[in-house]
Parts: sequence; structure tokens; C-alpha cells
Amino acid sequence: EAHHGSMNHDRSRDLYDRALSSIPGGVNSSVRAIRPYPFFVQRGDGGHVVDADGNRYVDFVNGYGPLLYGHDLPDPVQAAIQSAASEGPMYGAPTEIEVDLAEFVARHVPSVEMTRFVNSGTEATVSAVRLARGYTGRDKIVVMQGGYHGAQESTLVEGDVEDHGPSTNGIPEEFAEHTLPVPFNDFDAVHETFEAHGDEIAAVLTEPMLGNMGIVMPEDGYLETLRDVTEDHGSLLIFDEVITGFRVGGLQCAQGKFGVTPDVTTFGKVIGGGFPVGAIGGPAEIIEHFTPAGDVFQAGTFSGHPVTMAAGYESLKYAAENDVYEHVNELGEKLRRGLTEIVADKAPQYTVAGTDSMFKVLFTREGPGSTDGQCEAGCKQRPDCPRYDYCPKNGAEVADCDTERWERLFWPAMKEQGVFLTPNQFESQFVSYAHTEEDIETALDAYEQAL
Ligand code: PMP
Repeated sequence: EAHHGSMNHDRSRDLYDRALSSIPGGVNSSVRAIRPYPFFVQRGDGGHVVDADGNRYVDFVNGYGPLLYGHDLPDPVQAAIQSAASEGPMYGAPTEIEVDLAEFVARHVPSVEMTRFVNSGTEATVSAVRLARGYTGRDKIVVMQGGYHGAQESTLVEGDVEDHGPSTNGIPEEFAEHTLPVPFNDFDAVHETFEAHGDEIAAVLTEPMLGNMGIVMPEDGYLETLRDVTEDHGSLLIFDEVITGFRVGGLQCAQGKFGVTPDVTTFGKVIGGGFPVGAIGGPAEIIEHFTPAGDVFQAGTFSGHPVTMAAGYESLKYAAENDVYEHVNELGEKLRRGLTEIVADKAPQYTVAGTDSMFKVLFTREGPGSTDGQCEAGCKQRPDCPRYDYCPKNGAEVADCDTERWERLFWPAMKEQGVFLTPNQFESQFVSYAHTEEDIETALDAYEQAL
């Protein structure tokens, strides 16, 4: 295995050259296209990944969030996956394990009685938006500027309530017409939007904390305001918990942690234990509007796939019976505190964000503020925090971060020291159950060097 600063990447470079001829951009998800080339993974090993040239990295990407256990699945999870894969692998007919997982979700997540399983977070938000439109008979949805809900037509929209359009080629202007982007944490903006369009709005769709935009926590009262305003206007509140579900707030998810109950919740990532998954949950009165119980069409060949359901169910059951969340949250807290000290010393204008097992260093441009305050949540984004004024409160403020500096310092500086981070400023990092105190120390040393 390579030592720091002397990594060989010949094989990854060759594989990338090959991939560029057969896969557009050489990757199957845009975020993986790292300059000058990504490393190709050979295998996972506990809290680490090993690349095609034998280099080892502490893995804080964890598949972009699904891997609560890193690359070391507990024995019962492993056994259930092997058994489901060897017996089928799938049938196009219902299986018991789907019911087990749906019952588990209903037992633990405050807002959920029923769940429909799909195959990706994107599919979950597509179906949730269709459900909200079918349920309310209205067309418009309110989303947060800079928020991400997958590669889907009705949310790939940029701009503001007055002036907005598709954020990518390939989407007709008319599709974007019904999506109203507002700034996260802006109480007035959501009130004004509902005053102007309230009876046309099917739903507000938001992550309870922004996990795709650096990590932005909700200000006190903001989620409650969204809850009240949607209720007053007969609109639905949809929490996109694709990232936060079964990670933030443990088995109750972020809605339990923040104490605000949405009408509909979208899940993905952790709920499938590392296999392709999405889900839409809520009270029966709403979820039963999906066909065949109701009249909002929803279907999928692979939905409720037995291997995914087994991986998800056994993963969550294991978390319910062991100290999984305590362990990952404690490591997360340790990492955030260490990073806060390093940042205060080396780059006081930057911000350490996150909670539970999520963290991110944001290359904010403002500051420096007071650095002696520790906020209880382990992040720097609560109103009572002395550094509060220097923390991004919405997507636009995160977008103002110095992204070039992030790329230069953290990629390759961190990678060359054996730490794998998401390659852009906006996506969160994750601590896993497979990580050790030593991994955290390694990461902190690397950050200190890189900064
Ligand atoms: N919603 C959120 C909040 C997400 O973070 C993501 C993916 N990162 C999605 C939806 C889309 O999920 P998928 O990539 O599984 O389609």
C-alpha cells in the first residue's frame, strides 16, 4: 500500500481512459467525474476503500450516504442479502420482507403509517410530487433554492418565485412553470409565496436540513412555519429524508429530531442498506391515493426488490438492537470538534457544519467570527451560536463558498493523504459504524495539513 504523497494512480488512469470511450464522461453519475480523473475502486474494507492501484483511503463518502456500516456489514445483514440473492433474485410478486420493512418504518417514523417502495431517491420524489398533485388537485410545488431532490423534471429548476426556469437542458420551460423556488430559512418568502399562490400550491418539498448544499440547519421555528403555512392553505408538507432518513435522529429520522411532522416523507439511501432504493411514506389517508388503492398511478418492475428489502430491514433492525447511532454520532461529534479547532487555528473564516454522523467544512468567505463557542448540536448554525452570523443559512450563501479553494485543498490534498471526501463543496460527508477513533485522528491530521 502506498505511503502519503507517493500514490500511484496508473491503473485508475487507464481505466478512466477506457471508460471515457464507452460511458459518457467516463462515469455513471455526474458527481463522480473528478479532475483530472477519479480513482477506480477495487473494494471496500471496513471504514476504508482500496483503489485499483492498491491505495487505501478512509472513506467519508460512504456511497453518498447509504452506508451506515461502511463496507463491513454486520453478519445478519450479510447473511440476509446472500440468502435473498441466491433464492431468486426477484419475482414480480409480493414477498414477506417488503411487509417487514414497511411495518418497521411505520413503527419508528412519526409521520408514517404506510410506505410504497421504489428504486431510487429520484423515483421517490417524482412519485411524492405526483401524489401531492393528485391528492390536492393542484399543480404548483414550492422548493428551496439550491435544494436537490434527484435528477427529475419538476425539481431541476433555478431562479426565484417570480422568475424561474429549468436548471438543465432537456426540460421544457413549461415544466418549470409550476415549481416555485424560495430561499431556505426565509420566513417572509414562504409567507409571501403562499399569500400570492396559496390555493394553487400542492406541496412544499424540502429536506428538513439541507444535506446537498453544504449542510444548512433549519433556524428555530422555520420547519414549524412550513408546517403551519401548508396546513393553513390545504397544501402538503413533504420532507425529503433521502439523506437524513435513518441517519439524522436515528430511527425517528430528522422529523423526530426536529419535532415537526410532515404529511409525506421520501426516503432513499440508508433504508436500502446499500442497494438501489427509494420510498414514499405517510399516513394511510394520503399514501392510499397511490394505485391500486387510489388513482395516482405508481409502479415499478424492481420496486420492493427482495435483496434491497432484506438489506434494508436487517440493517435497520441491527441499528435498533445495537449502539450504531450512538457510535457514529459520537465519532461525528469528535470529528466536528477537532475540525472546529483546526479551522479556528488555520482558517478562521471557514465553517464546520453538520450534526449526528454528517459533517462538512465550508469554505465561507466571510469572517472571522468568534471561535470560542461550541454549539450543542455540534454544528455552527444555530442562532445562539457566537459564530452564527458567519454560517450559511441558505443555498445561495453556500453557493458563495470558495469552491475552487475546496477543490485545490481538499482534492487532491486530502486524497493524497488517504482520505476520500466528496469531491465538491456542496455534498455532505458521512461517518460510518466501521470507522474507528484512529480513522478520525488520521482524518484530522490530514485536514490540518491540507488547510
Ligand atoms: N433527494 C435527496 C435529498 C438526495 O440527496 C438525493 C441524492 N443525493 C436524491 C433525492 C436522489 O436520490 P437518488 O440519487 O437515489 O436518485
